[in-house]
Amino acid sequence: MQPLQFDNITIDRVDLPVNPNKIEVSVLRLDKIHPLISGNKWFKLQYYIEEAKRQQKNGLLTFGGAWSNHIIATAAAASMNGLQSTGIIRGKEPAVYSPTLVAASELGMHLYFTNREAYSNKEIPGEIDQSSQLLIPEGGYGIIGALGAAGISQYFNRESFTHICCAVGTGTMLAGLINSSLPQQQLTGISVMKNNNSLEEAVRSLLHDPARDFTILHDFHEGGYAKHNPGLIAFMNEWMRLTGIPSDLVYTGKLFLAITRLAADGYFPLQSRLLLIHSGGLQGNASLSKETLIF
Ligand SMILES: *Cc1c(COP(=O)(O)O)cnc(C)c1O
Repeated sequence: MQPLQFDNITIDRVDLPVNPNKIEVSVLRLDKIHPLISGNKWFKLQYYIEEAKRQQKNGLLTFGGAWSNHIIATAAAASMNGLQSTGIIRGKEPAVYSPTLVAASELGMHLYFTNREAYSNKEIPGEIDQSSQLLIPEGGYGIIGALGAAGISQYFNRESFTHICCAVGTGTMLAGLINSSLPQQQLTGISVMKNNNSLEEAVRSLLHDPARDFTILHDFHEGGYAKHNPGLIAFMNEWMRLTGIPSDLVYTGKLFLAITRLAADGYFPLQSRLLLIHSGGLQGNASLSKETLIF
């Protein structure tokens, strides 16, 4: 596997088409670390790996869908650290594996497929040896994941930004960013799920300071988790033309769309300086038919 290249991370300035409050927008390019392993997931896994070693486990066990960024990152992180890995995958075994599952199994991950009900109950098939593996919650959620995500802030100068914005799935990355932010900084998360009402509480329970202020916006899911529509796809292509920055359909496409609309509406105060976290995930775009995206 190609090594991870943290030196590739850049902060790119972008010009938004409609920007009445003249805000400055920059993007932290964690997507450039590796073509398959998205930066966000890698950061979240760091301390799970340490925990596995500390507990003398010989593998990592986790859950995800057929296009999961978390599954492929876990497979890669395990392989690079001499650990085994097991992925419990939602749904029945497909006749043709997604590129995500092909890559995960090439990295040595053992895959088990479970039906949707067993999956949502997070049942672990009986034939899996649990005692030798560290169980990582779906998406890397938890205090250990947030601790790793806080490490993202070493790649930017905190003083330079009034707002930090990111896409939100489990909320672990947002919690890590909040924990490592300056007290006066505004943290804005864009939920990629429809009506995920427990999200604020899920984030708050990972914070060092549970009274810390943050905002999650719930109106930019574009139909729901991993759902997309022609408007979103057109936007992602337009964003690429405008900024040269590729995005993914599950997370970062929705983040950039939300910020573009909010900026046009004058949501952010005059001359705010925003840092948008490009958390990777580009590998998932392979689920779209060719020629949908211009990148
Ligand atoms: C998982 C993921 C997120 C969301 O992170 P959470 O910590 O689950 O909120 C955002 N962007 C990408 C690309 C991801 O893979």
